[in-house]
Amino acid sequence: MTFAQLESLTDHVSSAGSRPHRQIRAPYDDSVVGTVPLCTPEDVRSTLDEARAASDEWASWPVSDRAAVFRRFHDAILDRRESILDVIQTETGKSRPDALEEVLDAATTARYYANLAGRALSPTRRSGAVPFVTKTVERSHPVGVVGIISPWNYPLSLSVSESIPALLAGNPVVIKPDEGTPFTALWALDLLRECGLPESVLQVVTGEGPTLGDPLIEGVDYVSFTGSTEVGRLVAETAGRHLTDCSLELGGKNPLLVLDDADVAAAARGAVRGCFANTGQLCISIERIYVHESVADEFREALVRETKALTLDAGYDYDHDVGSLLDGELLAKVEAHVEDAVEKGATVLTGGRARPDLGPYFYEPTVLTDVTSNMTLADEETFGPVVSVYEVESVSEAIERANDSEYGLNASVWTENTERGEQVAARLATGTVNVNEAYAAAWGSIDAPMGGMKNSGIGRRHGRQGLMKYTESQTVATQRFDLLSPPERGRALWADGVTLGLRLWKRLTELVP
Ligand code: NAD
Repeated sequence: MTFAQLESLTDHVSSAGSRPHRQIRAPYDDSVVGTVPLCTPEDVRSTLDEARAASDEWASWPVSDRAAVFRRFHDAILDRRESILDVIQTETGKSRPDALEEVLDAATTARYYANLAGRALSPTRRSGAVPFVTKTVERSHPVGVVGIISPWNYPLSLSVSESIPALLAGNPVVIKPDEGTPFTALWALDLLRECGLPESVLQVVTGEGPTLGDPLIEGVDYVSFTGSTEVGRLVAETAGRHLTDCSLELGGKNPLLVLDDADVAAAARGAVRGCFANTGQLCISIERIYVHESVADEFREALVRETKALTLDAGYDYDHDVGSLLDGELLAKVEAHVEDAVEKGATVLTGGRARPDLGPYFYEPTVLTDVTSNMTLADEETFGPVVSVYEVESVSEAIERANDSEYGLNASVWTENTERGEQVAARLATGTVNVNEAYAAAWGSIDAPMGGMKNSGIGRRHGRQGLMKYTESQTVATQRFDLLSPPERGRALWADGVTLGLRLWKRLTELVP
């Protein structure tokens, strides 16, 4: 897409004309590809007012009409696949196969929630306080206006896919994309409007997180944040002060376990995908590998061979496996992590260096061993293409070391015995576990919840929870005649009667569960 085409997308940002602009750069070569307005807190507040004014009308749409917008979006984004892939690659520097994952994710999310919303949002009969006398119905109302704060690494999935359930639940949404990757969300906004989404129902504010974060969180009824644990804590603090509900999808230091009975070649191939997809800038990517000593030599050899076979380069075609890091800050962090580890005794099996010949922020996929707990990258998320391999004596040791982390986002287990793999999974303290896959199996299982334990987050995306978190449940109980208030006389008898009633009810529910 040309500079002018990208710039024209900023017409969707209110106050675009009157604000200073920020340059957006392509990580492949650091060239300026467009500019976006630096919105102010006042812009956020007026955008939220507009969203709130649209909320009753949007909530009054039949769910089937809302779903129809996203069914159209599903087809439209697949039709325009190549165009959005260009935008994603331009502003993130990722490889085209990595960018494609986002497009598939957006289409899958649109289809899944368009199909689920009608069923999940319908009023549901619940057991009443007194059987046959109380009619109880649970209703799901939109929560209000939803704010989505998203990171740069998956600019389509983590802003637009995340908006889909919120919108389907009947809420207007305001997205604050990462300051460096705004065009993907703006492109998708443009497409969604073409698919019939009313203007004020989805809006984007562009600019700096620390400036726009608070006014957004203070003005919404629900905030969905994806990003670092550090900023997640700030978001939770502000949300807490305003008693605003939130979900936080945060960082990870994800382990992969290779058991003694694993198909070692498959495990190595899976690990390479898990470690280096999106150049390692993936919250659920693998940064620690625990391999059983009986297969360790064979696994390390295969891992290094597969890693060396990856192609690293810039290009808007499907020919390269691994793309660039986002920027100089991230490159410096990756370099510092590896240098610190090497200085303290780690061994580089492959990689371990920047590749300025390919672009300013390229770094080779890197495999380390001899990593010890005093090295920064032993515990801290690198968020780059660097993995450490540790040898273990038993499955219990692998599980214990995998769980010895402040994070609990994703894990992967490799074994020929899938039942054993599932048993190991149950002992891992992570929100998702993939058996004989690294991350895509659990992420792609959109009918099941995805999110983090411990410092990796609060709440879940995907599945029913991913939709219902954007609703307020309301219980409406209609009493046919009064059996709940104590009578004016004969209260002791009444007390005996209700006590007996509870005993009988327990018996009955044991017989007919
Ligand atoms: P980040 O926390 O720096 O930024 C995320 C978003 O928060 C951006 O839009 C940014 O502008 C905004 N922000 C910054 N300061 C803010 C403030 N004070 N108040 C409100 N918003 C503010 O994260 P990042 O560097 O863009 O992303 C990388 C991190 O995100 C990694 O830790 C990664 O693991 C995590 N992540 C998690 C998931 C998940 O699903 N768990 C997915 C992707 C990325």
